[in-house]
Parts: sequence; structure tokens; C-alpha cells
Amino acid sequence: SVDAAWARAWIVTAAEVLAENRVALITLDREIGDGDHGENMDRGFQAVLEHLDGLADDATPGDVLKVVATTLISTVGGAAGPLYGTAFLKAALAAGSATELDGPALVAALTAARDGIVLRGKAEPGDKTMIDAWTPAVDAATAAVAAGAGVHEILQAAASAAEAGAAATEPLVARKGRASYLGDRAIGHRDPGAQSSALLLRAAEAAAG
Ligand code: ADP
Ligand code: MG
Ligand code: MG
Repeated sequence: SVDAAWARAWIVTAAEVLAENRVALITLDREIGDGDHGENMDRGFQAVLEHLDGLADDATPGDVLKVVATTLISTVGGAAGPLYGTAFLKAALAAGSATELDGPALVAALTAARDGIVLRGKAEPGDKTMIDAWTPAVDAATAAVAAGAGVHEILQAAASAAEAGAAATEPLVARKGRASYLGDRAIGHRDPGAQSSALLLRAAEAAAG
């Protein structure tokens, strides 16, 4: 179930996966950015792990998500820190004080996260950003819940759609972020933020067991 234990497991898994993918994300960002995305995400989630230790035992999923948000905003610079920080903050607000999220509440939190990234970064689908992972993920999660799927299936659908969305950034020209300065030279390279978003969403599914 999508409760505080899930939220903590998500972040622990995400920190592991981001550490494993640190070099891969650096390589992607070196091709169309400044080469720091893997470092930013790894450092940010290691800091989140430290802050999670300080949370009370009766913390809700929303409390966990809020710690992620404030830690990422304060420790991760660049574009991704404020964008992911806003995503986790909006998800925390959507989760409210619930101790467990059912399918509709989970989809509402994922949608709020995506909307937060759009509010902050003003990217549209097809701009070759993390939104190209989040928007198909939200669409797939929305379809899954409408079809009566449980939380695990919803997270599985979201993660698979995010992975496909990240892969689909490869042929695109970027219209937001550093990669937008490259014009056609961004073609053929996957967007690092879309890739880290897919990793985060797959970790969310893995944490649901
Ligand atoms: P920086 O570009 O400042 O070094 P990062 O390398 O950590 O920051 O993050 C880059 C990622 O941020 C990009 O791959 C892209 O997915 C995402 N990004 C950049 N600008 C935007 C934006 N306006 N909206 C959504 N995502 C964005
Ligand atoms: Mg960068
Ligand atoms: Mg940078």
C-alpha cells in the first residue's frame, strides 16, 4: 500500500538507483547540458536520506514528500533542484495528512507533481524536458485508475510510460533548459531530466512491492 513506509522505501530505492545511475546521467547531461545532472541528483537524494532519519515515526506520506521537497530545493542547484522540489512539494500538498493513498489519491499526487513542474518551468510536452516523462506517466496512471487498477498497477503503468517518454526525447530538439541552446545538435540525445524522472517513477513502483 502507498503509506509512509512506501514513501520511505521509495526514497531509499531512489537514492540507490540514482547513485547507480550517477555516471550515466552525467554522460547524458554532458552531451546536451553541463554534465552535472547525475551529481546533482545523487547528492540531493543522499541529503534527503539524512533528513529522513529525523522524521517522527508517525510521519505521513505527505510528511516524507515534504522533506524530499525542502531538501532538494536547498541542496540541488541548477534547473532540476527547484523543479523536482516543486514536484515533491505539490505532491505532498495533494497527499495532505492521509496515512495511506488509494488509487485516486495516488494519481492526484502524481498529477500535482507534474503540474508543479509545469508551473515552475513552463515546459510543454515535446520540449525535451522531464515533462516528456511525467506527462505520459500521469496519462497512463489516470487511465489505469479509470480502469480500476490498484496502486501497484498504477505505479507500474506510470513507470513504463515514463521510460517510453524518456526514450522518445532522443529525436527531439530542446525548447527549454540548457539543451535549447544547442538547436539541432540536441537531436539523437536523451534528455537527462526525463531519464532521472523515469528512474524515480520506477523506484516508486519497486517500493510498492
Ligand atoms: P542544469 O541544466 O541547471 O545543469 P540539471 O542538469 O540538474 O540542471 O537538470 C537538467 C534537466 O532539467 C534537463 O534535462 C530537463 O529535463 C530539466 N529542465 C530544464 N529546464 C526545464 C524546464 N523549464 N521545465 C522542465 N524541465 C526542465
Ligand atoms: Mg546540468
Ligand atoms: Mg548545472
